[in-house]
Amino acid sequence: MYEEMIEKSVAHYRDLLESQIKRAENLNNAPALEKKDKLVIGVVGGDGIGPIITAQAQRALEAALKDEIAAGKIELRTIDGLTLENRLAVGKAVPDDVLAEIKACDVLLKGPTTTPSGGAMMESANVALRRELDLFANCRPVCVPEQGIDWMFFRENTEGEYAIGGKGIEIPGLLTMDFKVTTVAGTRRIARAAFEYARKNGKTHVAVVTKSNIMKKTDGMFSILCREMAAEYPDIETEEYFVDIMSANLIKPSMHSKLQVFVMPNLYGDILTDEAAQIQGGVGTAGSANIGDRYAMFEAIHGSAPRMIARGAGDYANPESILRAAVMLLQHIGMPDKAAKLTAAIETANRNAPITGTAEGCTCAQFGDAVVAALA
Ligand code: NAD
Repeated sequence: MYEEMIEKSVAHYRDLLESQIKRAENLNNAPALEKKDKLVIGVVGGDGIGPIITAQAQRALEAALKDEIAAGKIELRTIDGLTLENRLAVGKAVPDDVLAEIKACDVLLKGPTTTPSGGAMMESANVALRRELDLFANCRPVCVPEQGIDWMFFRENTEGEYAIGGKGIEIPGLLTMDFKVTTVAGTRRIARAAFEYARKNGKTHVAVVTKSNIMKKTDGMFSILCREMAAEYPDIETEEYFVDIMSANLIKPSMHSKLQVFVMPNLYGDILTDEAAQIQGGVGTAGSANIGDRYAMFEAIHGSAPRMIARGAGDYANPESILRAAVMLLQHIGMPDKAAKLTAAIETANRNAPITGTAEGCTCAQFGDAVVAALA
């Protein structure tokens, strides 16, 4: 009785497989980076608290980069239109005109965007952007010196459950199936990024996190390829962990200073980095970088906080997350001194304009004022 649905699903599966084979083959042909006279930083507000916190990060970048902006070497370009309303109106996770504007920039500072869940079949704008710009490495630092934590997460950013997450199969009333995809080239490049980071930053330990005992093909291959990569870095100790025990290890004090660099498939990275950010003080305190060979996008690790907006507390959102992302952006564009200055300014603002998320603390804009004052 299911024959027709099986036929339809098999045809759908064949299309998916063909598209993923094409993607996997193209991963080896990354475009070379062009040398340009002017670097363009696109600024995208996003949804919910996105525009509120992003405005403060934009002010901070304008202050930190005022000389380069005045000399025409750097442009901060505001890009509108990546809002849920606009995306729903045109039925695209990233409208074509917005994508074209984004691709005309070199790096992007992006506020969080809302993804409708369940029935509304709109793909996440973030997932679409990571795919379109081929931002394969999601790098998330978590630092709590008093607990001996100095971690850097390398989350694979374009594959796993996210590659074709919105394209599963459904036999109505009976079952649903989603697909997880891991490619050889996709795994090797995230493993390379993690080990290279470790080597360049004097780190001695890399933790490879999978669930290869259950997801034998996808995570199994991820684990094998990371082991092969580890052999090229004999100076670094590599250990494999399953994601379940790693989620426990993150809150086990005796593991804190042993763990240094992590590399893992997409979904585990999504989950573990939120847990790690909570140890640091909450998702509002953590920034992240999405890095590819051509483009890079910097953002807060959290979402658009719709409940905060609904209770009228949006102006009290913490911009530290996106300011930390701006620090990573400055590091990425080769300005470590300005990055260090902005980090110090954020710390000053934390002392002078503490944020609580409620009217008892400072507003997001007051925090931004304190950052800009510290940068002057
Ligand atoms: P969320 O991160 O928006 O909120 C989780 C909790 O953290 C809420 O209590 C919120 O009030 C609080 N919070 C988040 N950022 C804060 C900040 N800067 N200051 C103070 N408190 C803050 O998570 P969610 O509710 O699961 O997701 C909301 C929407 O965001 C969803 O549509 C989701 O898909 C989307 N999302 C987007 C991104 C992104 O664009 N990178 C990331 C995650 C989630």
